[in-house]
Amino acid sequence: MRHTVSSEPLAQNVLDSPAVAVLCGLEDAGLYLAVVNGRLRVWPAERLTATHEHLIRQHRSELVALVRICDDGVQARLVVHKQQLAKVPKGSTPDFVFQRGTPYAKAVCFSCGAVLPEPHYGRCWRCSLAWRMAVGVPIPAEQTAAYDGARVVA
Ligand SMILES: [Zn+2]
Repeated sequence: MRHTVSSEPLAQNVLDSPAVAVLCGLEDAGLYLAVVNGRLRVWPAERLTATHEHLIRQHRSELVALVRICDDGVQARLVVHKQQLAKVPKGSTPDFVFQRGTPYAKAVCFSCGAVLPEPHYGRCWRCSLAWRMAVGVPIPAEQTAAYDGARVVA
């Protein structure tokens, strides 16, 4: 587990953190955000002010987490997992598998079949985020920001 140094305590759930307002502000200013190879990219550079840069530095982990949550692949899984959850009796949870028939094998996400960067059993970061959101499990920014490519956490 990698440690992230942050200037202020991270919110328990990134969706409740002040970074949500920061992200909205950046987008309102015409900026785009993406996570490339685990690093936050913000563009176009000519629209970035010193204030933006300060806010980005202050909320980097949360912003990475939020950008990952907005990922199309995560949202597609979330839709499927919410449907699965609606079909099971109250109090129980489905297995949250995105693609039925995916083999349970080392280095392959058992939910969607994506290749994992490390040779163990588990879900890719998209599948990990999606089921957590479907159930309403808090998403800690630090953990989500540390997802590297397709790092497995749960
Ligand atoms: Zn997956």
